[in-house]
Amino acid sequence: GKRIGVLTSGGDAPGMNAAIRAVVRKAIHDGDEVFGIRYGYRGLAEGDIFQMEERDVSDLTARGGTMLYTARYPEFKDAEGRQPAIDQLKKHGIDSLVVIGGDGSYRGAAALAAEGIQTVGIPGTIDNDIPGTEYTIGFDTACNTALEAIDKIRDTATSHLRTFIIEVMGRNAGDIAVWTGIGSGAEQIIIPEADFNMDEIVANIENGRKRGKKHSIIVLAEGVMEGHEFADKLYEYDDYHARVTVLGHVQRGGAPTARDRVLAALFGYKAVELIHEGAAGVCVGMMGEKIVATDINEALESKGHSHDNQVKLYNINTEISF
Ligand code: ATP
Repeated sequence: GKRIGVLTSGGDAPGMNAAIRAVVRKAIHDGDEVFGIRYGYRGLAEGDIFQMEERDVSDLTARGGTMLYTARYPEFKDAEGRQPAIDQLKKHGIDSLVVIGGDGSYRGAAALAAEGIQTVGIPGTIDNDIPGTEYTIGFDTACNTALEAIDKIRDTATSHLRTFIIEVMGRNAGDIAVWTGIGSGAEQIIIPEADFNMDEIVANIENGRKRGKKHSIIVLAEGVMEGHEFADKLYEYDDYHARVTVLGHVQRGGAPTARDRVLAALFGYKAVELIHEGAAGVCVGMMGEKIVATDINEALESKGHSHDNQVKLYNINTEISF
């Protein structure tokens, strides 16, 4: 059997625990030994490593966050920063490593692979901005959490005939904004992948009011600008105070949805299969509803996350949200 390490790195996301569980159970099922590494690459370098048994991951799938904790460890970008991690892996006889995280974590995994460690990446972030997959673990849960909040804001927006700007997460990607915008029937979605024109936005709000619309919901991706900045700009065009809600970190928490739990289980299972096949420096993903594996460097070089899907959804929303 293999000796497989598993860690979570970068930002946490709901569903990471379900992925850890799948890795541990599949590996033990296949006769491997599994080692949990706490606090990402930092914990790896510091030797925060423990052997995991099947009961260590009981009652885990429903829990948000990550039981292995996570950390940022910029030192890992340099070979000197990685050496203590490689030494720790050798010391524990760990020959392969599953890294659950974002593109920064993938870069770390690719660097370790180049240095002879068999690494497999699993995409975990709410932002959905990782190459090599159409969906990341945590994205579906974050969208559902944001939608629940937007639905509540809509009730008050309707009661007061108000314009609300709701800033959602996503870093430089508009995925959460476009999904929650369509899902909530927002009048406007503002994403980094598409230009916006304040004159048009103001005209749309005005037209909506004239046609008896009771409110206007604008879902703004954080990657464009901050909600308050957008409200100030809107005010310059329209003598109107829009209310701003920044959803913030609530979007990162909570029990994962069915979709995220299943995706996490499939990714974890596939990662262990890939290790048995001898793959190294690869990442798992879902493409066209199929679980696939891609070389990490190829995935990172493919200019990251495709924009086509967001723009398509954005255009559809424009046609159905007047
Ligand atoms: P998130 O999507 O939540 O930001 P991420 O994995 O992209 O997740 P980062 O903070 O960018 O989060 O990266 C996580 C860790 O991966 C870093 O703290 C660092 O230890 C390691 N890392 C990032 N970039 C590199 C790199 N170029 N080479 C080696 N290791 C890296």
